[in-house]
Amino acid sequence: MIDLHTHSLFSDGELTPAELARRFEVAGYKALAITDHGDQSNIDLIIPRLVAFCEQINRRQGIRVIPGIELTHVPPEFIPALVSRSREIGARLVVVHGETIVEPVAPRTNRMAIESSVDILAHPGLITEEEVLLARDHSVYLELTSRKGHSLTNGHVARLAQKTGASMILNSDTHAPGDIWPAARLHEIVVGAGLSRDDYQAMMKNVGSIVKRCLT
Ligand SMILES: [Zn+2]
Ligand SMILES: [Zn+2]
Repeated sequence: MIDLHTHSLFSDGELTPAELARRFEVAGYKALAITDHGDQSNIDLIIPRLVAFCEQINRRQGIRVIPGIELTHVPPEFIPALVSRSREIGARLVVVHGETIVEPVAPRTNRMAIESSVDILAHPGLITEEEVLLARDHSVYLELTSRKGHSLTNGHVARLAQKTGASMILNSDTHAPGDIWPAARLHEIVVGAGLSRDDYQAMMKNVGSIVKRCLT
C-alpha cells in the first residue's frame, strides 16, 4: 500500500517526517510521499529539508519516502511558476490543493493545476467534465480521499473520471496518527465512491507507477 498525500510538522501535520514514515511503515505501507502545504513563502524552506530527510531514510531497508509539496491556496495565476520552482528545488511529487467544497479555494485552481501538469490534483471538489478531460490529456491524477470534508465529492470525481477515462488515485491526506487508514480496508473508500474492486486494483497500479517514477 502507498499513500502520496500526507502532512508533517513542516505544515499543519502533528508528526515529524521520521515518525510519519515509521507509523505508515508499521501500518503496512511500502511507500509514502510527504506533501506539506506550500506557497510562495515557504517552499524553499520545506522542500530541501524533505529532500535531505528522504535521501537519508531511503538508504535503509523499509518504507520508501518521497519528498513532495502540496501547493495550497496559491492564487491560480502563480501556480505554473510555483510548480516549476518546486520541481527545480527537488520536489519529486507536486500536488495542488484542489477546489474542495469545504474551503474557499480560488476558482480556476483546478484548471491551472492541470494545465501546469502537476502530478496529483488533490480533492478537486465539483470539478467539471471539461477539466476532467483536460486532466486525462495532461496525465494528471485525480484524487479520491479518505479525509473528512474533502471526501464529500469522491463520488462526483469518480463518476466523471470513469466516464472520461481519467486516472484516479486514493490518498489519506494524513495530518495525525488517526488519519492513517488500515491498508487492508482502503478498498472500502473506493467502493464507497461507487467504484468496483477492479477500479480499486487499477488505482493501486496507478499509484505504483507514480512511485516508480518518483524514486528513479
Ligand atoms: Zn489539500
Ligand atoms: Zn493535504
